[in-house]
Amino acid sequence: MIAEFELQLVSFIFMAIIAIVYFSKEKVKFAENKYYEIMLICAVISTFATTSLHLYAYFMGFENTLKLAPFISIVNKIVSELYIIFFCSIIAYTITINKKIKISDDSLKVLLAIFYIFYGFIIFFTDVNIELVHGVTTISGSMTIITQTVLALTEVINVIILILNRKYLDKRYYVIYFIMLFMLLSGISSILFPGINLSDVVLVLICFTMYFTIENPDAKMIEQLNIARDQAEKANNAKTEFLSNMSHEIRTPLNAIDGFSQLILEEKNIDTIKDEARDIMAASQNLLEIVNGILDISKIEANKLEIINVEYEPAKVFDELVKLTKARIGDKPLEFNVNIAKDLPEYLNGDYVRLKQIAVNLLTNAVKYTKKGSITLNVDIVKKDNICRLIISVKDTGIGIKKENLDKIFTKFERLDLEKNITIEGTGLGLAITKKLVELMHGKIVVDSTYGKGSNFTVAIDQKIVNKVKTVKEVKDEKPTKQVNLKGKKILIVDDNLINLKVAARLLLSYKIETEEVSSGFDCLKNIKDGKKYDMILMDDMMPKMSGVETFKKLQEIEGFDTPVIALTANAIAGMKENYLKEGFNDYISKPIDKKELERVLTTYLNAKK
Ligand code: ADP
Repeated sequence: MIAEFELQLVSFIFMAIIAIVYFSKEKVKFAENKYYEIMLICAVISTFATTSLHLYAYFMGFENTLKLAPFISIVNKIVSELYIIFFCSIIAYTITINKKIKISDDSLKVLLAIFYIFYGFIIFFTDVNIELVHGVTTISGSMTIITQTVLALTEVINVIILILNRKYLDKRYYVIYFIMLFMLLSGISSILFPGINLSDVVLVLICFTMYFTIENPDAKMIEQLNIARDQAEKANNAKTEFLSNMSHEIRTPLNAIDGFSQLILEEKNIDTIKDEARDIMAASQNLLEIVNGILDISKIEANKLEIINVEYEPAKVFDELVKLTKARIGDKPLEFNVNIAKDLPEYLNGDYVRLKQIAVNLLTNAVKYTKKGSITLNVDIVKKDNICRLIISVKDTGIGIKKENLDKIFTKFERLDLEKNITIEGTGLGLAITKKLVELMHGKIVVDSTYGKGSNFTVAIDQKIVNKVKTVKEVKDEKPTKQVNLKGKKILIVDDNLINLKVAARLLLSYKIETEEVSSGFDCLKNIKDGKKYDMILMDDMMPKMSGVETFKKLQEIEGFDTPVIALTANAIAGMKENYLKEGFNDYISKPIDKKELERVLTTYLNAKK
């Protein structure tokens, strides 16, 4: 029958074309793609095999075909295995595109592979009869029955999966219902018209329909581009939002600094001036905290944030926390309860700076987001061998967090419930940093909150117990330190900003140090070449024409130059300290100058005694 042979040939040609077009196109890979690729490969091979058999039968006649019975039977077994793989791949495709079904890709692959092997094993031992039905060579026998039954089963399974999870199927994948229909029609036709082999036509129909609807590489590429564009837009919006938020955050303390500075200029009463200077300091501290938050996030994202473990006294840390929180509460009508475990070890080993930062973030939020009621700080411990698990919980009776927002609070720049929180200052960085710090310290953070009632943040972090007795020296050290006296020492300060020069010189004056200020690298080099001697050089980096680093390099070329050079710079982003040290600077101090840091550097390089 010429029609039968033509049908097979056309099926093969179409399949070959679609496979060539599909595989030659540049594609964006989605999880379901590989199942479509498997379907295409199976369809090409099976249409090729059946076309070849039909061609042979057509030209050689039935009698001659029968002579090749064993070979034909093997080819048909392979073809039925390919059919099974094709139809099971449709199931795998349906499972993969469904948002609800959570079966891992690997488990699915293993399951399918086991099934294919099992099926292949069964049909290997089943019979294949070659008959002439209505003048066409047709396959029958137990293998055909088994294959048709399994195919019918795959159809049923797929329909069940689709019906049960219909709500979770994206609209653009609805074409899969038509595919089911094609499969059904093919099954019915093979029962009603066993003489006409429509199976290959169905394979072609399915592959074509999928290609032109859900598997078109061009469409997928556009889809991917759209996703990328949406992500870029989102990131851009987050950045814009962050910048506007930041500018508001930064303006608030700046407003205080600027306002009080003007007042000081006009004020004559020294006590009022001192009061206003204290407010300026508090605002500067606030500003510094904002900038440090940004630096922390930048360090975290560059994987540069290090946990530095040292020995510390936990009681002291919690004491400072309590004082700080009381100051933050100020005159807000909030009760502050503190319960600290009595058996807290005297000494622990860990990063107490970061531990404090974590607790400060939680306590600050509790104060910020609670109008009235109470805040409770609980510190419990669990000791095991030489490890002490600190369980710090901060509970408030504040505004609480909606359930659906709970997993968003740890995302950077994410601020929630803005209609309620609009008057509360914040950058949305605190909890993102907190979570990351807890993770870096191998701890855990959990939150439990009832919207409108309050929240409870709990952190658990393990710290090593240090067994030692307080030495006399340490008891002595607890007394307030005296101002370091460095009379007779001389420091050269290099900075293009006159205010910065003034601040540094004024700070050094309190140590009785003699200073000389120059505003460029050129002047610095001139002074050294002129033979002027200093005990230390504090060098800014970002200066016009010649940077601090360039000046430093030129200084090194001067014969006999051995003065310690310290980078004193506002360039404090992740990794900067290491960069300056790598350049050869003796040390690094970031601006604004922290007195303790300055003192550390001075005592280290000027060999001073307290
Ligand atoms: P922010 O600078 O906005 O306080 P955080 O990262 O610290 O940033 O917190 C993120 C968001 O989580 C806050 O904007 C707030 O909506 C919510 N949040 C954090 N802590 C609390 C709390 N104790 N009670 C209610 N909401 C909170």
